[in-house]
Amino acid sequence: EEAKELPKIQRLDESVVNRIAAGEVIQRPVSAVKELVENSLDASSTSISVVVKDGGLKLIQVSDDGHGIRHEDLPILCERHTTSKLSKYEDLQSIKSMGFRGEALASMTYVGHVTVTTITKGQLHGYRVSYRDGMMEHEPKACAAVKGTQIMVENLFYNMIARRKTLQNSADDYTKIVDVLSRFAIHHIDVSFSCRKHGAARADVHSVATSSRLDAIRSVYGLSVARNLIKIEASDNDPSRSVFEMDGFISNSNYVVKKTTMVLFINDRLVECTALKRALEIVYSATLPKASKPFIYMSIILPPEHVDVNVHPTKREVSLLNQEVIIEKIQSLVESMLRNSNDSRTFQEQT
Ligand code: ADP
Ligand code: MG
Repeated sequence: EEAKELPKIQRLDESVVNRIAAGEVIQRPVSAVKELVENSLDASSTSISVVVKDGGLKLIQVSDDGHGIRHEDLPILCERHTTSKLSKYEDLQSIKSMGFRGEALASMTYVGHVTVTTITKGQLHGYRVSYRDGMMEHEPKACAAVKGTQIMVENLFYNMIARRKTLQNSADDYTKIVDVLSRFAIHHIDVSFSCRKHGAARADVHSVATSSRLDAIRSVYGLSVARNLIKIEASDNDPSRSVFEMDGFISNSNYVVKKTTMVLFINDRLVECTALKRALEIVYSATLPKASKPFIYMSIILPPEHVDVNVHPTKREVSLLNQEVIIEKIQSLVESMLRNSNDSRTFQEQT
């Protein structure tokens, strides 16, 4: 009698489980772009181009000239937890690739339609195959292809009504995509990037491979940013406090804007670190007369075992050993560099 009123526990359908998980990995079109570009970088590409239609809801297409995907791997390519980058848990400690979860492509097939065209070295033709819900829709078809891989995601969130509606009303997803590509472009300066709207003649991000970081920043963020930057470098080798290397560019006292741009890579991963960003904003507002927000590009290298990359499905936040010490050190360095640049400017203006 009583048992009838109790809620019954049921096992969810695998497709439901997968779609729920996928919605977490691919939160917006820009998350798909980031995953696809990271895959292209992991495949040693030297040129990556992105085409976007309708803020990414209609189409995201990422083409690269990387090593391609083997024909025999295509059947399981978009299954959940299939990867060429990790084989045992311990590998996570020293992982150099950006991917490792084997979830990104699978997720895209649960919330969109994915088509892959790829060719590996030495092959006369490539293959094209489409996926849904982790599975190939048909046998791979032989096709003409240029070096590398092209992945097309269409109709993102077609089966997540609420998400699609929210995103349709927000015009800023293309802006977010351009922003992510800009960040990759100034870090991976040996790779050329482009990003354009479908049908547009002009690319909104267009970088060519260069050996100068400053040139890359100039071409992506413009002259007004590039001419107001100071080079910054630091390292700490005392194992009792922290071990890290940092280098980058920070804006000087002539640079006046209302919004912070903080481009941060930790061990070559594009991440956010709110604590570091706040710490640096405080220095800028306290040190500079015209309380400006900074432009900061910073690359921090830590021993891999000091970084936990597996704290979030989107891999956006990482956690660091000795985070406070590192932040403090960077903060005081930035402060002294700003004071110097500010003083020399005052001096110049007086003479
Ligand atoms: P992960 O990157 O975590 O391994 P993904 O789902 O992003 O998982 O990709 C699955 C696998 O597909 C990768 O491990 C890689 O072998 C292959 N792959 C994906 N994109 C590319 C690409 N652009 N070029 C070559 N291989 C790729
Ligand atoms: Mg990946």
